[in-house]
Amino acid sequence: MTQKAIAAKVQRLRNFYNTGQTKKISFRKKQLRRLRRAIRKNEGAIMEAMRRDLGKPAFESYAGEIGVLYQEITHAIRHVRSWSRKREVRTSIIHFYSTSEVLFEPYGVALIIGPWNYPLQLVIAPLVAAIAAGNCAVIKPSELAPATSRLVAKLVRDTFEPDYVTVVEGGVDAARAVLKEKFDYLFFTGGTAVGRAVMGAAAEHLTPVTLELGGKSPVIVDEDAHLPSAARRLCWGKFFNAGQTCLAPDYLLVHKKIKAAFVAELAKTVKEFYGDDPRRSPDYARIVNVRHFDRIIKLLRGRKVIHGGGNSRKEKYIAPTIVDGVTMKDPIMREEIFGPLLPVMTFARIDDAIALVNRLPRPLALYYFSKNEKKQKKVLAGTASGGACVNDTVSHVGSPWLPFGGIGDSGMGRYHGRSGFETFSHQRGVLKRTTLFDMKLRYPPYGKRVKLLRFLFRIVG
Ligand code: NAD
Repeated sequence: MTQKAIAAKVQRLRNFYNTGQTKKISFRKKQLRRLRRAIRKNEGAIMEAMRRDLGKPAFESYAGEIGVLYQEITHAIRHVRSWSRKREVRTSIIHFYSTSEVLFEPYGVALIIGPWNYPLQLVIAPLVAAIAAGNCAVIKPSELAPATSRLVAKLVRDTFEPDYVTVVEGGVDAARAVLKEKFDYLFFTGGTAVGRAVMGAAAEHLTPVTLELGGKSPVIVDEDAHLPSAARRLCWGKFFNAGQTCLAPDYLLVHKKIKAAFVAELAKTVKEFYGDDPRRSPDYARIVNVRHFDRIIKLLRGRKVIHGGGNSRKEKYIAPTIVDGVTMKDPIMREEIFGPLLPVMTFARIDDAIALVNRLPRPLALYYFSKNEKKQKKVLAGTASGGACVNDTVSHVGSPWLPFGGIGDSGMGRYHGRSGFETFSHQRGVLKRTTLFDMKLRYPPYGKRVKLLRFLFRIVG
């Protein structure tokens, strides 16, 4: 699509926004219901597209994409009216005889750019929030999941007015071209390096951004953890979608006393989940393309594989793999793995585990396994991450009641449920003054009134 065509598209959305239709709550709810119906109608096609793009098992398409979206949409339909209600707040004494309120207003036209790993959910969940907040939107899905990108374009075309929500397909060039236009909000999900470039492009127009990025999310398993369930929950979060999940546990820090027992438990769990040969399992996904396959395999070079390691470039298959003898200097600990390799390191004291986590950039998630509440508190207080689970992995992303987003290198801003609505809303503070009287105190000439002012502010603040 040419720059001119993109500019014209965005202008049409702006014109639509300016009609004011999207400000009505009834309109927003109607669009959300339409979206839910469209997903329902296309469930089979969605699962098929994901299978083609990522070899995603139907269960994982449902759990990680379709189901999450139903929950988000239904939650938004149920709550959007109360979220949108103006919030009356207190009024300072210096504004005597006034009222104060916060209005939640749409930004206008939003741009949503998505990645390939959850290629439907990660553009449609932000869209749900954008619609709930009353915005128009342009979506740029990832070119690396082409079947899903086409499906998103069709689904949007069949569901919404083209001047209300629209899709621009394509790769980096398309993304760059779209980013040249001025938007009122930019919601980006992808890698940290690209996030930096996207934020730079947004700065040109002073467009506010949410960046949902990646990172190395640690799992800490302490000596008192319940090992069988910890192993199951860790393997599930790590090997779901073959490790290509922004929130996947990236590396394991295990208490040295239980390392042998826990690694054995992990190996047993992988077998239980995927059988003797995970390549044959219908429940195990593939790597998105050979570039990523090669990148992940390179991380294994010279490392000690203690479980798994099997792979096939032709099939873009990498087995669930546990890697030992890892140090912080190894490439596997210096970049986000984004694949089914689990490096294992040990700690003797929980403070050492906390210190190690804090040596790396702030991750999108942190997972801690222990029954001890004091230690749970200590780990949460001693670290920073976008979100966290205690005695689980990844599950927090599935709750519309919890804000989801990163911190530091893993991103900025948050969404899901009310957080998403607030992200796509401008909070407009409004003071309403009486006309019954007009205190002259603040108007020049001020004379010696500074003394009175000083007295007043001593009382007020
Ligand atoms: P990516 O950053 O390569 O691509 C994301 C999107 O940006 C794509 O639509 C792509 O076309 C576009 N893009 C690529 N280069 C661009 C550029 N120079 N300028 C503008 N746009 C550009 O990410 P990816 O490989 O698709 O996804 C994997 C990454 O995303 C991982 O790092 C992962 O952790 C992260 N991620 C984060 C979340 C989250 O919710 N925080 C979710 C999924 C993935």
